[in-house]
Amino acid sequence: MLKSHVKFHSTAGKRLVLIVDDEQVNRELLGYIVSSDFDVLYAASGEEAMQVLKENAQHISLVLLDLMMPGMDGFDVMRIMRNDSAYEGIPILVLTNEEKAEVESLRLGASDFIIKPFRNPEVIIARMQKAIELFEDRHIIESTEREPLTGLFIKNFFYRYAEQYDQYHTDTPMDAIALDISHFHLINEMYGRDAGDGVLKHLGAFLKSVIERANGMACRLEADKFLMYLPADSESYEDMFVKINEHFNSYSDINVRVRGGIYKNVDKSLGIERRFDRATQAANQIKNDFTKSFSYYDITKHEREIYAERLINEFDAAIENHQFQIYYQPKYNVQGEEPVLASAEALVRWKHPDLGMVSPGMFIPLFEKNGLIQKLDYYIWAKAAEDVRRWKETFGKSVPVSVNVSRVDLYHHDLVTYLQKILAENSLSTKEMYLEITESAYTENADQIVYVIDLLRKKGFQIEMDDFGTGYSSLNMLADIPVDILKLDMKFVQNLRTNQKQETLVRLIMDIARYLNMRVVAEGVEEKSQVDFLRSVGCYVIQGYYFSKPLPEEEFAQLLKEQ
Ligand code: C2E
Ligand code: CA
Ligand code: CA
Repeated sequence: MLKSHVKFHSTAGKRLVLIVDDEQVNRELLGYIVSSDFDVLYAASGEEAMQVLKENAQHISLVLLDLMMPGMDGFDVMRIMRNDSAYEGIPILVLTNEEKAEVESLRLGASDFIIKPFRNPEVIIARMQKAIELFEDRHIIESTEREPLTGLFIKNFFYRYAEQYDQYHTDTPMDAIALDISHFHLINEMYGRDAGDGVLKHLGAFLKSVIERANGMACRLEADKFLMYLPADSESYEDMFVKINEHFNSYSDINVRVRGGIYKNVDKSLGIERRFDRATQAANQIKNDFTKSFSYYDITKHEREIYAERLINEFDAAIENHQFQIYYQPKYNVQGEEPVLASAEALVRWKHPDLGMVSPGMFIPLFEKNGLIQKLDYYIWAKAAEDVRRWKETFGKSVPVSVNVSRVDLYHHDLVTYLQKILAENSLSTKEMYLEITESAYTENADQIVYVIDLLRKKGFQIEMDDFGTGYSSLNMLADIPVDILKLDMKFVQNLRTNQKQETLVRLIMDIARYLNMRVVAEGVEEKSQVDFLRSVGCYVIQGYYFSKPLPEEEFAQLLKEQ
């Protein structure tokens, strides 16, 4: 319930005022001037004024106070009134004949002053009314802008004041902090609402002491969620969170854990709420990590998100403007004396007009998450098929090209017909386009995936299991999985030299592949020693920088021509 500070005294709607002056003429004259608009009480001394106030504080809307009085003077009365919450809703107008006293009386909390002798009745009345209205308004605002339990700002006022603060302190770097209490609902359930309120009050009081020290502001956002806006680095957050949690442990047996997120040195071009969203995000990061009580908002993570968002937004335009291009990385057969170009892998490249070459490692996982990958892959496969046809037409020969098939593609019902369609359109057979499917796809929803892959194989497609060894396919599973080629993950190759066990493992994989009638391709091969080893264990198809990086179409075509 809000306490009302609007006090109508009489049924006529008049407010009650108290005139304090030791000179009877002044009391009577002033009383006469204001009586048409106000009901009036009188006091002839400071002592009497306090007595009247004590009895009528609830009803008095304004005090007209003479400063110069014998005994307790006007300054004394003001000092008492401004330090007693019983009188906080009552404005004071000072009656004075020396202008010097104005400053001091305003400092002590007077709203305004009236110069003696009284000359202009309308001005006096107007000043009285204005003082009362201002006070009532201010108290209405104060009682709604603060939240009753903790006395902290409520959300809207907090945001508004924070914005105002920024306007006047454009050069002050600020930190946004979000705090909440872990499992607060449990505290309520286990110890009752009063105990819960007690915890909130305590946290509120603690935050108040922080903002007073740091010159910041705080609010209770809702339930157990609090926000603080502080000049940057005014607090050691490390200490602050240790102290908050110590504070609670010393105050009761209830196990309270306060958790916080800090968005340091906020970007003031962001809306105020966004800044606190970031602080909240940081707090949520440690939701389940009980070893931490606070964490910082990671701006680089945010920048990555912005970048990702941009890539997604520009995807359609990039397809239209042919920004996606295919590079071909040759695979060589090393069984004979001379390595022979055996096939190639189609790898997508995004030549972005502003961002330059964007790596597929950046955008493929992104597009897999939101489904754009299908459109991209279908586009790439069609382009690859066209390239193979053109090579055949121009050079009278071609090599099979492997395209990457994302696991997401495997869920599209038209996958098989689409592949068949692009082959048909370019008069190609399934012997000219292989499909690379990453090993981890098999473990995800094995039955569905195995079904689709089986279907593809029945239609004649060759399936390569990409990144073999990184997923979790057990040997057991391998026996049932429909694949033609195992594509050893690069890590096997790259660890060959440093790790003796890797050699043994690769030998073992070769044995199993032979046993299961699968061929093995090695990728990421960069050195001659790796080629030699792979050859010695019977792995004859090799892809990697040792032979060639992925090449633009023209360069790859040149290679084909030379063969
Ligand atoms: P991946 O299929 O395993 O492709 C092999 C990656 O290793 C390629 O990176 C290739 O450039 C790189 N590489 C080749 N030889 C070497 C070497 O000797 N040393 C090293 N360190 N790296 C080598 P890239 O082109 O950046 O592709 C990254 C991944 O993006 C691919 O991994 C594949 O999973 C995915 N990807 C690429 N193009 C497509 C596509 O058209 N569709 C789909 N769905 N995924 C694609
Ligand atoms: Ca691949
Ligand atoms: Ca791979």
